[in-house]
Amino acid sequence: MSKDNSFDTDPNPLKGLSRRDFLKGSGLVGAAAVGGGLLAACSPQAGAPTPAAATTAGPAKAAFEIPPAPIAKGDIKQTESADVVVIGAGVAGLMAALSAAEAGAKTILIEKSAKFNARGGHNAAINSKIQQSEGLKYTPVQVVRDLARWAGNRIDSELLMLWANNCSPIMDYMCDLAAKHNIQVLRWGNDVPTAYYPEYKTVHMFGAMDQTILAGMLEKEAIAKGAVIHYTMAAAQLVRQGTGR
Ligand SMILES: Cc1cc2nc3c(=O)[nH]c(=O)nc-3n(C[C@H](O)[C@H](O)[C@H](O)COP(=O)(O)OP(=O)(O)OC[C@H]3O[C@@H](n4cnc5c(N)ncnc54)[C@H](O)[C@@H]3O)c2cc1C
Repeated sequence: MSKDNSFDTDPNPLKGLSRRDFLKGSGLVGAAAVGGGLLAACSPQAGAPTPAAATTAGPAKAAFEIPPAPIAKGDIKQTESADVVVIGAGVAGLMAALSAAEAGAKTILIEKSAKFNARGGHNAAINSKIQQSEGLKYTPVQVVRDLARWAGNRIDSELLMLWANNCSPIMDYMCDLAAKHNIQVLRWGNDVPTAYYPEYKTVHMFGAMDQTILAGMLEKEAIAKGAVIHYTMAAAQLVRQGTGR
């Protein structure tokens, strides 16, 4: 970590930062996919440029709120343009790249590691075709209510409802892909004493309790659909035109 990262040196890096400012900043760094992107510079393993010095007086800013200095023209080795640039090849990024490419968008996925990242292996869904074939049927709103209760209401119910209402077609899509790739979808009954939620048998595993099997399948499909993946390439900065939208 560089010395100018206030998180390293300041015991209270958020002092002077309102909750609103903090949320605004987190929203910005949390964006995974950028629509209509122009990918410049980015020679493999190009390090992130040093943040530009804060010039205006005002409330203290966290390091992630300070935009990096522009990349010098001479450092730009190559320029590529795309309709969609996805940053980060975790399962979310791989799926985003696959969906974008499948919809016909020219898609580039960049990942700072040498390979995609995938951990665990349990994929939760309710009312998938497999579950229905096992005679399982759940009421989405009841699932969300129970999850909220078990979590002491510390949840984003809107987000959870979005998952509950939409997870089954996505799981069915992934199960169809798995069949195409000769990967067996395994179910974990959740009826063993150590199950997280014995009430809901939600777990789907692709091939084994190993999420890299699912990630590998998504990677292959995304490439087959025309997405271009650059590994060992970190996103250094987001350049927005106007308001960025
Ligand atoms: C040990 C372990 C076991 C888990 N088991 C399960 C489980 O069984 N079931 C379950 O549902 N969840 C499980 N989880 C949680 C799950 O792994 C995460 O929720 C999931 O990986 C999030 O996926 P993601 O694609 O959003 O993010 P990530 O998987 O974190 O992917 C983000 C990617 O972005 C890349 N990246 C970051 N910054 C940049 C940059 N500037 N430029 C380019 N690339 C960048 C990272 O290298 C990374 O590859 C587990 C987590 C852990 C740690």
